[in-house]
Amino acid sequence: MELLKDKIKQDGIAVNEHILKVDSFINHQIDPELMQKIGEDIATHFKNQNITKVATIESSGIAPALMTASALGVPLIILKKQPSKILNQDLYQTVVTSFTKETNYELTLSKKYINAQDHVLIVDDFLANGEAATAALRLLRMSHATIAGLAVLIEKSFQPGHAKLAAQGIEVYALAQIEEMSENYIKFKE
Ligand code: 5GP
Repeated sequence: MELLKDKIKQDGIAVNEHILKVDSFINHQIDPELMQKIGEDIATHFKNQNITKVATIESSGIAPALMTASALGVPLIILKKQPSKILNQDLYQTVVTSFTKETNYELTLSKKYINAQDHVLIVDDFLANGEAATAALRLLRMSHATIAGLAVLIEKSFQPGHAKLAAQGIEVYALAQIEEMSENYIKFKE
């Protein structure tokens, strides 16, 4: 998506070879107009797949996921992070390794909001090592829902997430794919 790539070129900050900061339009301050266009783009891509729900991981995925859900006319479910592992029989629960924070956390989803008839599209901000997306898949599959695919705003293609998900048969739709990065340098995949 050229609009997103232009925005990344203009306002994204490549901190080093691994970390891209997009705090001014995605992660801290949010550009609502850009999010709406992103949601429309993702919804158009998946429009013929009979999606019943969009799912995201709190918190950075919520804005683009909400816009996608709105464009598809379906509810958004938020997979919630919690620090402790208190077992709760009303929840599906799984552990995730965080790329940015280098810690583990628990991802949870209430059994009330998902069932085996659901066909779910996962939307998130970044795809890096694929840990968050793999955990989201694991959690959603506990309900026997089926997965339409994963849409991410930014894929760091030099990290193994895409390959990991493709190996599980998951379609990955990335609006901007970064082939290579270093301090103040970003190269997009053509
Ligand atoms: P993964 O589980 O694929 O390694 O990482 C996914 C999560 O880590 C994303 O949802 C995002 O929150 C965070 N993340 C990974 N790489 C970056 C990055 O370069 N910049 C920012 N801002 N977040 C990232």
